[in-house]
Amino acid sequence: MIEARDLVKRYGDFVALDGVSFDCLTAECFGVIGHNGAGKTTLLKCLAGLVQPTSGSLVVDGIDVLADPVALKERLGYLSEESRLYETMTVPDYLGFFGELYGLSRETVVERQERLLGALGLDHGNKRCAELSKGMKRKVAIARSLIHDPSLLVYDEPTSGLDPMTSRYIADYLAELRGRGKTIVLSAHNLYQVEALCDHVLILSKGRCAAFGSMDELRSRFGPPTYRVHFSLPAGRSPDPSLAAVVDGAGFSVEAASIEEMNTLTAAVAAEGGRVERVESHSPSLEEMLVALGGNGALRTGP
Ligand code: ADP
Repeated sequence: MIEARDLVKRYGDFVALDGVSFDCLTAECFGVIGHNGAGKTTLLKCLAGLVQPTSGSLVVDGIDVLADPVALKERLGYLSEESRLYETMTVPDYLGFFGELYGLSRETVVERQERLLGALGLDHGNKRCAELSKGMKRKVAIARSLIHDPSLLVYDEPTSGLDPMTSRYIADYLAELRGRGKTIVLSAHNLYQVEALCDHVLILSKGRCAAFGSMDELRSRFGPPTYRVHFSLPAGRSPDPSLAAVVDGAGFSVEAASIEEMNTLTAAVAAEGGRVERVESHSPSLEEMLVALGGNGALRTGP
């Protein structure tokens, strides 16, 4: 479990994190999102013990990370935004090197490396790291972060810049890791992936927590679902102007802000001799939430 309280990080006079607090439960996937410069990488580096917060407290599985960052290392797998590898090493040499750093036996390294490369679908062909594609490098970096079998994974943009297939493969693998009990904290610009993977999401804005919660909690905070009623009318008929319907494909559609409004609309459609073809509900996505928060992190509630 991660308990972050009132984390502040200043770079000189600049405040990159401004009093961030949250809890992340064991074996959950925790997403950190926000606009560029919001403080995501800084927060992840604090969690990984790579950046010392200016003030606040951070406890991971009972370890006070600020007082004892080294104690965290053996249970932490960190993936930085870029997969910087040792370019002249082959993949097995590279993973073997990190395995040794963690004090693993040669047999354990070989067994884990084969399992990880197999699970990640990485056919490295004994190439040197410099000769790998971007997606392959990312997979090697992920394998490196897992070689010592850590319980906490802190991943900065794990799928950024990858082709959709590789990105999907890695996202599926992260879901599998969470299923096996790993705690995963990740930042990502791919908000659909965050929605699909994460149990809780922290939205950072200018170093502050703009919103935090499960997807359901965030959705209810950012507004109730809306409904779009798709309907057809007898040939040649147009909807009553009071419905404010729009032409939609071969028929018409109209938006309802609540279930009650939807019921009123479907009754009005029936009264006009029309037929409701389908109703779609729409809840705010993370992307819409970020847009609603705007550049200054203030929740825009009006038009
Ligand atoms: P994000 O990951 O959300 O894009 P970062 O955590 O990388 O945001 O950066 C947050 C802010 O802190 C940015 O304005 C960035 O310029 C600043 N910052 C990050 N690292 C440093 C540093 N080492 N020195 C000075 N400013 C930094």
